[in-house]
Amino acid sequence: MCVTCGCGEDEVKIEGAPAPHDHDHVHADGSRHAHEHAHDHDPSAAHSHAPGIAPARRVQIEQDILSKNNAYAQANRQQLAERGIFALNLVSSPGSGKTSLLCKTIELLKHQPLAVIEGDQQTSRDADRIRATGAQAIQINTGKGCHLDAHMVGHAMAQLTLAEDTLLMIENVGNLVCPAAFDLGEAHKVVILSVTEGEDKPIKYPDMFRAASLMLLNKIDLLPHLSYDVDAAIAYARRVNPGIKVILLSASSGAGMDEWLAFLRDGVANAQAARQHTVAGLQARIAQLEAQLQTRSG
Ligand code: MG
Repeated sequence: MCVTCGCGEDEVKIEGAPAPHDHDHVHADGSRHAHEHAHDHDPSAAHSHAPGIAPARRVQIEQDILSKNNAYAQANRQQLAERGIFALNLVSSPGSGKTSLLCKTIELLKHQPLAVIEGDQQTSRDADRIRATGAQAIQINTGKGCHLDAHMVGHAMAQLTLAEDTLLMIENVGNLVCPAAFDLGEAHKVVILSVTEGEDKPIKYPDMFRAASLMLLNKIDLLPHLSYDVDAAIAYARRVNPGIKVILLSASSGAGMDEWLAFLRDGVANAQAARQHTVAGLQARIAQLEAQLQTRSG
């Protein structure tokens, strides 16, 4: 159940995986969580958005859902860090051009190991489009659910071959509200706003723009045909999140793509460096312990 709108997650399907409800979830450390899903199985909780649930009870349900999600997100994050994988959570309204942007990005990042998790309520159309580029992709269908959660993403990650130093792009369900509340274990949320939408979306949906580190203003090739105010859109985004980075781009003309690719390459390099730093630290510690052992035995 979604804390924001009360939507259901009873019909979740992940390509190649058993239904997330029906078996244990295996974490990076090998530990299993039997049937610990973000869905709250309390019968009253399934309808907590309906009138009649006491506000205190509703708050408790929301806290339970988010704390379970955060535990799964933390397990995902640890697994990603161990493998030096840079993961992004792409969020937007439906129709902002997320999948087209991903296809163009994959085409330009030829030699970068890359995988995509696609979230949609129904169909595998977007995952099919990604696979047509040659990249590996897994589709999650959320059924009535309006967002991805960390538990679903953990299952999808298990279906992918995630080599070290991979770039993992998670395309969330098109929705500017609910995905803001759910950490998936990603390094950053990236919000995509297209110039065919209203400039004022950042102040209408502030939670999402506050949660994102980067805003991509997409479809700028269409600006000559529109009366869109780019400066106003950026000002609104910075009103809710003064630190948000902004890149203007067009997946179809290629404008601005260099800056976006540089952001991705930096993220991949940083994740890789962090992994190597951890490995070097562990190697130094092992050498230290071995030396101590030799001293004692000698
Ligand atoms: Mg899409």
